[in-house]
Amino acid sequence: MIQTGDAANYEPQDAYERLSSPEVIAQDGDLELSLRPKELKDYIGQEQVKENLAVYIEAARRRGEPLDHVLLYGPPGLGKTTLSGIIAHEMGVNLRVTSGPAIEKPGDLAALLTNLGRGDVLFVDEIHRLSRAVEEILYPAMEDRVLDIMIGKGPSARSIRVDLQPFTLVGATTRAGQLTPPLRDRFGIVQRLELYTPEQLCDIIRRSAMILDIPCEADGAMELAKRSRGTPRIANRLLRRVRDFADVMGSGVIDERTTKLALNRLEIDELGLDKLDRRMLDMMIRGYHGGPVGLETLASAIGEEAVTLEDVCEPYLMQLGMLARTPRGRCATGLAYAHLGYPVEDAQVKPKQFSLTDMLEDT
Ligand code: ADP
Repeated sequence: MIQTGDAANYEPQDAYERLSSPEVIAQDGDLELSLRPKELKDYIGQEQVKENLAVYIEAARRRGEPLDHVLLYGPPGLGKTTLSGIIAHEMGVNLRVTSGPAIEKPGDLAALLTNLGRGDVLFVDEIHRLSRAVEEILYPAMEDRVLDIMIGKGPSARSIRVDLQPFTLVGATTRAGQLTPPLRDRFGIVQRLELYTPEQLCDIIRRSAMILDIPCEADGAMELAKRSRGTPRIANRLLRRVRDFADVMGSGVIDERTTKLALNRLEIDELGLDKLDRRMLDMMIRGYHGGPVGLETLASAIGEEAVTLEDVCEPYLMQLGMLARTPRGRCATGLAYAHLGYPVEDAQVKPKQFSLTDMLEDT
């Protein structure tokens, strides 16, 4: 167990540089590119999503039509971008990758769409962040494969219609609940990605280790998997960090002993919690008798941004059943008390298992 004392030494850090952040961080570099599976058969886990997509892809190919528009949703780092690449590969077409915030004006989207070839896949990450004006251009493009472009301003303004090549839009979002209903309704295929089990993450880690030529034993991969917050992106990142420890302090092989040593040094505990997670829970328990406490109050008490706590710490802590959201604020449950070494009987809230993806949809 990690002692609570270390939480007191905590210093705020950039959320996006946290080793256990599910978002891309600077040190990921080109790593993701080299580890992305290109074919459906190499994509590990998400069995139902894979089975469904395989049928839709095969049916579209037989008909010689592009695949219907696809919406993928779920937490960051679970493989949405990877799946869009696989779809393009399996359909034998090109992939264009962009994101909601990058498409600032309707003209930006028009440029992207008019450059697509027949059947190409356009991947739009964070699609819930498209502006209203851009969304309105997207509707007829998705439905009728046309662009309605306004030329000029004022009384002399007129609209011209441009035909587009048939294409597939793959939209990805962490917050399906924030998508406007007209946009959501235009996706024929909607698939939700779930957090991975340790066994699936273990397979992903062993595959990555093989590609990166890192000697990795089964027990080492499993230990790493258990501490990776159900997220392949985190698992792949930690694999490289543990390799450094294995090279310098061990025999160069990733085994259980080296993994434990490395992750303890990186202050990622046996459940995948890092310093900030523990600091948050510790403050709730010691500073607020386990809650309820408001998010903003908690954030300023530990000197961190509320949005970081909400997007990065809370989903996983709720998934573990250590944190509960109540109408009066956040509460630490008995599981959090036990994990941090406080008497469980002091906890006012009994643990409850939440579904992370349900929670993300609610927000
Ligand atoms: P997202 O778009 O959901 O944030 P990505 O598709 O960028 O996630 O995936 C992050 C990394 O995790 C990728 O580099 C990829 O190597 C790895 N990954 C994700 N899903 C899988 C999977 N099912 N099998 C193997 N590797 C995966």
